[in-house]
Amino acid sequence: MARYRGSVCRLCRREGTKLFLKGDRCFSEKCAIEKRAYPPGVHGQGRVRFSDYGVQLREKQKVKRMYGLLENQFRSTYQRAAGMKGRSGENLLMLLERRLDNVVYRLGYATSRAEARQLVKHGHFEIDGKKVKSPSIVVKPGMAITVRPVSEKVERISGALETLESRSVPQWLEIDPDTRRGVVKEMPNREDITLPIDEQLIVELYSR
Ligand code: SF4
Repeated sequence: MARYRGSVCRLCRREGTKLFLKGDRCFSEKCAIEKRAYPPGVHGQGRVRFSDYGVQLREKQKVKRMYGLLENQFRSTYQRAAGMKGRSGENLLMLLERRLDNVVYRLGYATSRAEARQLVKHGHFEIDGKKVKSPSIVVKPGMAITVRPVSEKVERISGALETLESRSVPQWLEIDPDTRRGVVKEMPNREDITLPIDEQLIVELYSR
């Protein structure tokens, strides 16, 4: 399936919640959810009742869109999570949270996950001193994420780091603002994901 190229704010309005896909704009009063908190389209303001399947599907779409994955990528991440010890839903969220593109975003090197993904693909980062270009790498505790010396002047990275104060870095990550060195301190917890997600609905959807 091709990557969605339309307005990302429509995706938030479709899911009825902020997915934080547009960087700093998401924290401003220009956010489309603040102005039009109803689904897009001519029937957007009508009453919609979802079946159980519909509720599960919307939850899966919400998380998939939040992390910017395609359908197949999301499904294979779920299958990996289901094969791990523990709760499949929680494992899924932890795998998504530990993706390199999400970690770059969470550390403040980018203002959105989409921007982080692009910066990683363009080879601006290193893990433990080695250049990486794959946004789907799953990081582990102890790993150090740094901007490559040749990319230190990339404006999008410095600009994002300047606005880091308005976004908090989760406790399982740490960044030194002077050296720009990010470290994975420990594994993330379920509590580190503060957005409203009911992962059990996704498990139910894939268990059908
Ligand atoms: Fe979603 Fe951000 Fe657009 Fe608001 S500004 S609707 S949070 S993408």
